[in-house]
Amino acid sequence: MKNLKLIFLGAPGAGKGTQSDIVAEKYGIPTISTGVMIREAIKNNTEMGLQAKAFAENGKLVPDEVVIGIIGERLAKDDCQNGFILDGFPRTVPQAEALDKMGVEINCVVSIEVPDEKIVERMSGRRSCAKCGATYHIVYNPSKDGTTCDKCGETLSIRKDDAPEVVLDRLNVYHNQTEPLKDFYGKKGVLVLVEGQEKVEDTTALTLGAIEGSVK
Ligand code: AMP
Repeated sequence: MKNLKLIFLGAPGAGKGTQSDIVAEKYGIPTISTGVMIREAIKNNTEMGLQAKAFAENGKLVPDEVVIGIIGERLAKDDCQNGFILDGFPRTVPQAEALDKMGVEINCVVSIEVPDEKIVERMSGRRSCAKCGATYHIVYNPSKDGTTCDKCGETLSIRKDDAPEVVLDRLNVYHNQTEPLKDFYGKKGVLVLVEGQEKVEDTTALTLGAIEGSVK
């Protein structure tokens, strides 16, 4: 596929990160996850990390100008010139407008639809790698040995913002601030909805079908 510029939308825990990595590998393009970049910056105590920490750990959105800055720099890199996948960006209408202003032409937006009750249940089983950012689920997508990361060997942990009380806040943020993007991209004619399935590979099959059916 030529120059796929794809956005994954969906509630926290809908499977955006997992599907992004699979689709990125299939098409040989990078996944850009603002969540992973932000957690990395927090871990390394960079200036951006210090600005973002209190927001991210409490399930609030980091201010638009901070995230727009890091995305602009990342998309300018050579490896993005033949396409890319955005996971977790844009999350607000101003962020989507910023992409337009940068001249980035998104040709497909896949929204992974999962009901709120399912999200809450799924998040309680999520495990993450603090080193490389990979995510797993104890039932639906376990790592090979159940305790360490398949990619880098780090011991898996639970993200601070995956605590049940923070998950409910993040779901509210999603419905209020991010879901309006379905309308934004629907009007541009690039939105496809995919029902999130229990099995990762079933969601992947629907996702690949949706991408191939909508991007020529
Ligand atoms: P994620 O890994 O995508 O769930 O992101 C984790 C946290 O990082 C979010 O709850 C926000 O605090 C922050 N974050 C990630 N992407 C964005 C974004 N595009 N805009 C604002 N905050 C973001």
